Amino acid sequence: PAAAAPRDIGAAVRAALAAARAVTGGRNADYIPYLADVPPELCGVAVVTADGTVDTAGDTGYGFAIESISKVMTLALVMEEIGPEAVRDRIGADPTGLPFNSVIALELHDGKPLSPLVNAGAIATASLVPGATAEEKWRRILAFQSKMAGTGIRLSQEVNRSEQTTNFHNCAIAWLLFSAGALEGDPLVALDVYTRQCSTLVTCSDLAMMGATLANGGVNPATGERVIRAQNVPHILAEMMMEGLYTASGDFAFTVGLPGKSGVGGGIMAVAPGDLAIATFSPPLDDAGNSVRGLVAIAELAKSLNLNIFRG
Ligand code: GLU
Repeated sequence: PAAAAPRDIGAAVRAALAAARAVTGGRNADYIPYLADVPPELCGVAVVTADGTVDTAGDTGYGFAIESISKVMTLALVMEEIGPEAVRDRIGADPTGLPFNSVIALELHDGKPLSPLVNAGAIATASLVPGATAEEKWRRILAFQSKMAGTGIRLSQEVNRSEQTTNFHNCAIAWLLFSAGALEGDPLVALDVYTRQCSTLVTCSDLAMMGATLANGGVNPATGERVIRAQNVPHILAEMMMEGLYTASGDFAFTVGLPGKSGVGGGIMAVAPGDLAIATFSPPLDDAGNSVRGLVAIAELAKSLNLNIFRG
């Protein structure tokens, strides 16, 4: 058989952006006031390969709130510190099948949060970040996000203020975790640190580089730094596949076949292990909380670049 034609990732990225821009519908998240006011027409697509080639199209330089995607980085950080088995023992490794901020999942499993990629599990994971104070934990989280992105990631004071003054539901989750003995230390410290980790700004290009660090077995392809132990990467990707896209995670696995993680800021990061990472940004979300245009762009790229990991 003839050799496969070389992939034109740049053309595929531009086509995915065009397909995404043609889509309407969805609404910005508004339960965090800041997010309601981000211009909804913004749309960007970035791909970074495991060897560090970058292709971007659209609004890939706009800094948006990382939100839930930060759960992947904090999970990776804690796994480095305590190992995957301890993470599984303390948090769990199963999808909840329930909305991201569910308290019912906690009731159903004797206070065990199950997934580190939904709020209960993510707040419990944040409580396991080493550090005697919130500031110490926070510095480690910010440094870890920066190492994955290969650039200095910063906190948005505006996003953080908007979240810290409205995170009543997450506050309840933190206390429920505490009462179940599922959280280390002070629940309000865990909540503070978790809320800050959601309030950093990333561009589509930053996010694609973070994903490429996972695609490249834990080594940032731009800086060459090993950020995550190679043996931890499959555990992180498995969590993403099971619970990365809220209650639509199963649909995403079925249709796209890539581990991914979305956030209510409108970002999505998807990883084709050993190959590349995709990041998309567009604020309007569907009912499950996933970026409407981002889903279209990723589905397009998965098809045009033949990325489904179950294709064999
Ligand atoms: N800070 C947000 C929260 O916990 C993140 C939500 C998300 O992106 O899913 O409510």
